[in-house]
Amino acid sequence: MNLDFLSAGGYDAGMTFGGTFEGSVNLPLHRKTAMRRDVPVAVELPESLRVPLCVDGKRSAKCVVAPGDVVAAGEPLGEFSGGGYLVAPVSGIVGEIVRTEICVGRGCFEVDAVEMHDLHYPTSSAEPSPEPESESRTSEELFELLSRAGLFVRGERITELGRWMSHIRKSKATRLVVSLLEDEPYASSRHAVAAHFGKWVALGARAIAKACGLDTIEILVDASELSAYDELAAEAGMSHIAVEVKFPIATKRLLKQFAGRGSAILDGIVACQAGQSLCGELTCRGSVVTVAGENQNSPRVILVPDGMALRDIVADAAGPMIAGGAMRGQLARETAVTSAGLELLLSMDPPRNVSMEACMSCGWCRDHCPAKLNVSLLNDCFELGRIEVAQHHGVEQCLDCGACSYVCPSRLALRARMSELIEAVRRLRSAIGRDEQ
Ligand code: SF4
Ligand code: SF4
Repeated sequence: MNLDFLSAGGYDAGMTFGGTFEGSVNLPLHRKTAMRRDVPVAVELPESLRVPLCVDGKRSAKCVVAPGDVVAAGEPLGEFSGGGYLVAPVSGIVGEIVRTEICVGRGCFEVDAVEMHDLHYPTSSAEPSPEPESESRTSEELFELLSRAGLFVRGERITELGRWMSHIRKSKATRLVVSLLEDEPYASSRHAVAAHFGKWVALGARAIAKACGLDTIEILVDASELSAYDELAAEAGMSHIAVEVKFPIATKRLLKQFAGRGSAILDGIVACQAGQSLCGELTCRGSVVTVAGENQNSPRVILVPDGMALRDIVADAAGPMIAGGAMRGQLARETAVTSAGLELLLSMDPPRNVSMEACMSCGWCRDHCPAKLNVSLLNDCFELGRIEVAQHHGVEQCLDCGACSYVCPSRLALRARMSELIEAVRRLRSAIGRDEQ
């Protein structure tokens, strides 16, 4: 993969014009719309939640509660094979198992969910003093506590924190790199968390590093916003890795390039929630979500419990909702709910009078692809079913970043098409393998 643009700083994702995303929604340019706003500790709770038993559309937790059970925030609702837990986001009473929809990664999925009602937040102590609490604990104690916290790490896939820490312990990683970079043009969740909850980020990072046996901690930050992190870095004794934010920035493979060898990369929001969890200060298990978009008059960053209806979050804005962002998000149904890893919820109008088919050979997709793929040629391969040609032209190097869909003036669903081509290449390869046996 050609990553020259990282060091040359020559990457410009076409931010001077409105782009698009694969759900064909017109996208004006807005960065960090909620950047300078406070993060409310949590939203007003709805009458009920539908807490998904699946966070990635693939693996489901086995339900361990029954209708009528009273559960406190943080107690298990489900258990994953291998030992991870899915926990109650807030306190309440368990209802029936119902079906609901979540939007993650490459699509929207219908999954089982635990209905909860009679909801309330746990009370939190007024003045947290986290440091002595965690630093007197051994690495094994921290590992156990954090594994049971019901937190998830978002990377190429969504993984339970305990499973992620086990993996890091077995790896050759020697340092923890906490990423506070935003990976979508509208997002400002990590900036907000760093600015408002820096103590918790530092505490969580130290605890996770200790639990995983990592020696040093660094934070990966936006070079144009360095002052927002000074306090955090000073308090935690962590050094910065500052990078110029140009999209796509935060796909796993790009982050690895920034962080360097021997780095375990952790999302700053998870570090914050881990710190709060260790001191009993985690108000709810859920997502720190940036609410933005052209139909949003009050862009904001909020903490929402898992299982809350997306429509309830953007009740002040009509029209379509895009869960996950402008580059990699998807149009969400009215019934969809929040699940681990949701960071961005956009309210936007659909496009009018646009052609959905014609490639005008402008080359923007190719120019802006961080993997330097000839995306328009690969798009032709998709149209013509030329799977071997797509393989030959390296479609499997696609980072799934969505930059091509974002900049395409014809609003072609290029990212989704690259995904489908990759699947077709893999099917073809396994079919050839079978024939040769
Ligand atoms: S082809 Fe893949 S890597 Fe290139 S811009 Fe599109 S989604 Fe990103
Ligand atoms: S696919 Fe879109 S961005 Fe790429 S050349 Fe065609 S019109 Fe331009």
